[in-house]
Amino acid sequence: MHIYRLPARVDNYIFLLHDPTTSTAAVVDPAESTDVLRQLQALNSRLVAILNTHHHHDHVGGNQALLAAFPEAIVYGGAEDRGRIPGQQVFLQEGDRVIFADRTAEVLFVPGHTRAHIAYFFAAPQPGEPAELFCGDTLFSGGCGRLFEGTPSQMVASLSKLRALPDHTRIWCAHEYTLKNLQFDLTVDRENVALQQYYTEVEESRKRGAATIPALLGREKRINPFLRWDEPTLQRAVKASNPIQTFTRLRGMKDQF
Ligand code: ZN
Ligand code: FE
Repeated sequence: MHIYRLPARVDNYIFLLHDPTTSTAAVVDPAESTDVLRQLQALNSRLVAILNTHHHHDHVGGNQALLAAFPEAIVYGGAEDRGRIPGQQVFLQEGDRVIFADRTAEVLFVPGHTRAHIAYFFAAPQPGEPAELFCGDTLFSGGCGRLFEGTPSQMVASLSKLRALPDHTRIWCAHEYTLKNLQFDLTVDRENVALQQYYTEVEESRKRGAATIPALLGREKRINPFLRWDEPTLQRAVKASNPIQTFTRLRGMKDQF
């Protein structure tokens, strides 16, 4: 499975999963259709699946046009998103599986950003190879999604599920927010050497116009405060005494940043 990262709109990423053997493709969160159709044509492949993580327009905006070009494509989304995702045919719940070519994604229910948000996790095909996580607007590199429809405790539960995945998991999140996130992170976790090093790398990449996605979960566990609400240093930094309170304070501060 090859993964193509297509920049869209201001800071969105659309991901095209391609199986060269069968000349088929699946697309994750098509914000729009033009570049997806162009890439499909370049690969001489047909679209068989649209995998949506949640209903926001910058994640489903291309669904209808893609369905018009590939009427046989199947649209997947969360069960709780019924009625909100254009063309949705499959209503997924925690633990459901989605098969694409020779790979299978496990569905994780990760409410918080929206009440219906899901993520797609492809385990590593062989030992030593990466696993792939498509997590929409739940986890970002150095950050997490805003809480539009969920509570802090829901989001902490969702991020805990993602944090439990293997370190070699690549995080294909839907926005290029990394630099701004790390600028915030340094205000609450100044002494974190791994965070300082990552910031330098990311600043360099962004100067060159290079993408910072996919990010690696192993590193996120060490640098992302939104995965580290149980660290005493972070709890002290935001004057909180438990994980939910720490997360709530961090999210509130980031909303104002
Ligand atoms: Zn969103
Ligand atoms: Fe988004």
